[in-house]
Amino acid sequence: MERNREILAEYGGYADLLELRVDCLRAEERPAAAELPGVTKLPVILAARRVSDGGVWDGAESERIAYLTRLVPRGFAYLDVEEDLYAPALESKARSGGCRIIRSIHDTVGVPTDLVQRLESLARVPDELPKAAVTPRSSADLRRLIATFHSVQGMEKILLGMGEHGFCTRVLAGKLGSFLCYSSAPGLNAAPGHTDPRTLCDVYRFKNVRQSTEVFGVMGNPVSHSMSPRIHNTGFAALDLDAVYLPFLADDAPEFVRAAELIPVRGLSVTIPHKRAVLPLLSISDSAVRHVGACNTMKAGPHGWEGTNTDMEGFLGPLRHAFGGTTPQRLRATVIGAGGAARAVVAGLVSCGADVLVLNRTPEHASELAAEFGVTSSGLDDAGVSRITGYRDLIVQTTSVGMEPNDSDDPVPGYEFSGREVVYDLVYKPPVTAFLSRAALAGCRTIPGGRMLLAQALAQFTYFTGREYPRETAQKAMLSHADNG
Ligand code: NAP
Repeated sequence: MERNREILAEYGGYADLLELRVDCLRAEERPAAAELPGVTKLPVILAARRVSDGGVWDGAESERIAYLTRLVPRGFAYLDVEEDLYAPALESKARSGGCRIIRSIHDTVGVPTDLVQRLESLARVPDELPKAAVTPRSSADLRRLIATFHSVQGMEKILLGMGEHGFCTRVLAGKLGSFLCYSSAPGLNAAPGHTDPRTLCDVYRFKNVRQSTEVFGVMGNPVSHSMSPRIHNTGFAALDLDAVYLPFLADDAPEFVRAAELIPVRGLSVTIPHKRAVLPLLSISDSAVRHVGACNTMKAGPHGWEGTNTDMEGFLGPLRHAFGGTTPQRLRATVIGAGGAARAVVAGLVSCGADVLVLNRTPEHASELAAEFGVTSSGLDDAGVSRITGYRDLIVQTTSVGMEPNDSDDPVPGYEFSGREVVYDLVYKPPVTAFLSRAALAGCRTIPGGRMLLAQALAQFTYFTGREYPRETAQKAMLSHADNG
């Protein structure tokens, strides 16, 4: 209870109502639960969640009902009880004291196939508030959940998807039509997928999300580490746009895009591993997509999805900056890695007439990429690394080596910098990798991955909104990136 008071002092300003999960209290603290409604002006929901519903109440059911019956007259505004609970004395005590009943379904393993019917028949009397907290485990589940929102659109209800696949349904409560969205203090994570009140309100501007709000996001797997929500939401806020940008965990590109169309989502950044998988879903691809052979940005157009690729320009912009604002000509360059990011880098370098050597752990991936763009390749072994000396005006590191939490890893520990190379590392977490530090120490000019991250995101922002990302805000977003690095 002491910790609850501290949380209330720190985060109460963000909340419109509180939920006291008495199942989480130690047994000796349970009598003190009655004090909470008296120490806050906010309405309080009373809930004692059973283990089977994702809670920690493991006592007898009769004990739980007796405890709730004692507590409910102490000023609680809502009582959360389950679909299968039959406790007439508890319920009539709640109703007679003006406490509204939330009648809930919790599914901690999936999305019930009969969710619409169950929601429609959940309330036992007209004033009850139906609630379903379910667990989408795939993009297909998310699509069914979004369809459920549409099927029960006019109904006052609490409906949300737990876990990472369901995260968007929490932030979009005001758009999709859910009475509330739960949030818990950092570190508490009272249910899978909760975000803390500060992130919810300050980053996602939860309280501004309404039916008219346009939805954007990044689809990827994994995606939770993405900096893009911070960058885009900061831009939307600076320009006062009625828009929100979310991370979407997408296990299957076509399934996810169908779910996105139902929300509907207006624009998507596309990241690992979907940049090529979305190509067949585009009705229009621009020259950047065709040149790179991958799409990292899509927007909904009048005839379907339109795609572009901002990675190539995002890579070239900071490179030009490092070369005094002009496109470097006829570079001899090494690209380490042959994945999705390397594809945009090689495409960009070839477009500037560079001679490129691609080095990769799996030599076949390097030779496939090299053949596509008419450049040369090797494995990332001693023989390959020894070839760098012939291609070292620029070295671009595009593998995930050196990325948090493996900060000390170096993709080519055997290579000695001459000090004349320009060294570009696409990894942006940490903001300066061990590889870049070693290059800087040898006297090389270095370009950290955060620059490309920001450049490609700002180009996406303009593609999505038709507006320039505000310059001062870009600097702030960059600093917040470094802070979060
Ligand atoms: P990807 O398509 O999965 O490719 C990963 C690449 O890293 C492959 O070439 C892979 O080699 C190589 N690799 C992975 N682990 C390795 C290891 N232990 N040793 C040697 N090579 C290894 O991923 P991606 O989309 O290209 O992303 C790669 C990195 O670039 C990530 O850190 C990502 O965050 C970063 N990135 C940054 C930006 C930016 O804007 N700054 C944009 C895009 C990506 P194999 O072929 O042998 O598997």
